[in-house]
Amino acid sequence: MALPSRKEVPTDLTWDLSALYPNDAAWERDLTKLATEVSKFQTDFTDQLTTPEQLVAALTALEAIEQKATFIEHYAFLQQATDMTDPHYNELLTKADQALAQKDAKLAFFTIQAANNSAETLEKVIQLAPRFASVIRHLKQDKKSLLAPQTEATLALLSPTLNAPENIYTTARAADMEFLDFEVDGKTYPMSFVLYENTYQYHPNKEVRHRAFNAFSQTLKKYQDTLAATYYTKVASEKTLATLRGYDSVFDYLLSKQEVSCELFDRQIDLILNELGPVMQQYARLIQQAHGLEQMTFADLQIDLDPDFSPKVALADAPSYIKEAVAPLGKNYQDMVMEAFPKRWVDFALNAGKETGGFETTPYNAHPYILMSWTNELADVYTLVHELGHAGQAILTMQNNSILGCDPSMYLIEAPSTFNELLLTHSLTAKTSDPRTKRFAYTKMLTNTFYHNFVTHLLEAAFQREVYQLVDQGKTFDGAKLCSIKKQVLQKFWGDAVVIDDRAALTWMRQSHYYMGLYSYTYSAGLTIATQAFLKLLAEPQKEVAAWVDFLKLGDQLPPLEAAKVAGVDISTETPLKNTIAFLAQTVEQIKELSTQLD
Ligand SMILES: [Zn+2]
Repeated sequence: MALPSRKEVPTDLTWDLSALYPNDAAWERDLTKLATEVSKFQTDFTDQLTTPEQLVAALTALEAIEQKATFIEHYAFLQQATDMTDPHYNELLTKADQALAQKDAKLAFFTIQAANNSAETLEKVIQLAPRFASVIRHLKQDKKSLLAPQTEATLALLSPTLNAPENIYTTARAADMEFLDFEVDGKTYPMSFVLYENTYQYHPNKEVRHRAFNAFSQTLKKYQDTLAATYYTKVASEKTLATLRGYDSVFDYLLSKQEVSCELFDRQIDLILNELGPVMQQYARLIQQAHGLEQMTFADLQIDLDPDFSPKVALADAPSYIKEAVAPLGKNYQDMVMEAFPKRWVDFALNAGKETGGFETTPYNAHPYILMSWTNELADVYTLVHELGHAGQAILTMQNNSILGCDPSMYLIEAPSTFNELLLTHSLTAKTSDPRTKRFAYTKMLTNTFYHNFVTHLLEAAFQREVYQLVDQGKTFDGAKLCSIKKQVLQKFWGDAVVIDDRAALTWMRQSHYYMGLYSYTYSAGLTIATQAFLKLLAEPQKEVAAWVDFLKLGDQLPPLEAAKVAGVDISTETPLKNTIAFLAQTVEQIKELSTQLD
């Protein structure tokens, strides 16, 4: 295996953790302080939460506790994510998880006692301290599903165990799975999960692509039953929690946290499966034609329409791409996200044991952290601009909200990130009148932004819906069953345009999203809002920039329906989604026209 170890990676490719702690000793000291503050909170506020003033005092104390907790958690988990095979980082993470679980258990009384107050008392809290408005909104909603204090404390203590499946899955993927190198025309290609996801699935050479897919699938298959059991543990525990909290359906339980109705969830999946499917099938046929493929298979879906034209992007050029892409959002926004480079928000390194894919996380009162692996593809610029979309929202939210009111509904999470991807495509197309370059950029928008966020993740969501339906009916599943569900979903979407075989059916093993509740569908929900806002930005730049920045500042102030309205998008109807699908159909038409021109 060719990947360097974490220790061999140059510092300028890594993120700067000194914004959290200078060293482990400082972290350890905070761990002790956290425990003391939590105990003090218990003493000060147990059975002392009946007046608005007491509630405000308690919430203020909680802000300080959560501030400490977020630094402690991030310092451990960020290091572990960069090398999951390092026992020291794993130990830090376990310590942090335990400290946080202890904290949550000891603080569990707060929600129960606070929610017991009258609506009037709770309203007064908002008058005294408006920054706690969203906390109060959730307290009112949670009231009906809260359990006895002892039970809540027990569940909080058990939370690392209940969340173990995701950790088991990511560890299996990053640390245990060994992939066989493969050979094409006498050349040996090294193989790993990241190499497949980031490089081989895009490879223009059919032999390389197909051998890689084979090697990739062979290893995945060995894990299918272990990972099915891991996944079952997760969804079964979610079903149990749903039942304990009085929900008949696990869907209602998971969606209640997002403040989203089942109707919105189903609409997203059904409309995309039925109406976007035929559009993407046309695109698949175009690829098949361009590459002269006898058969279009699942392993060919990620290739470029025009691979000879695919420019490589060196990391050194990333800042100029980003700067230009986000320019329409104004200088303030641009300056804000450009800090990512001098301040080392991003871990670009490609090393053994590192978490795959990309994520962004912002510890309150520190700077954002972005994990990704730079492989010199334009797709990396898309990942980066996507994660910087999350970062921009995190900063603006932090500046305008309490730490207790920062997290927007999951339904909205992917809007700022995908919006930035649309900006990137726009900047790539605006620069040129050359039809080949234009076609390249539209294709990138279709494949990177929409294929990834609107199709791949949505097909995950359609799969998840089937799985949760089984669980709701009290049924169980194994690896073979999951493969058959995944296969059916893929076949429905791709129709007869793409051959979906048993290897494609293993795709459910490629994502950690399944361990995050109903998360996957939110990509397309966010992208629907982003596309509508982006089209408005093109029509009325001044007005929409202001509206978009206001939307980014919201944090958890409003539930999704109202929050989207701030960005000027009405998701109470299916119009935004239909418009987005129409925009995609139009993009495929543009690509077809440009292709005819070029031929
Ligand atoms: Zn994202």
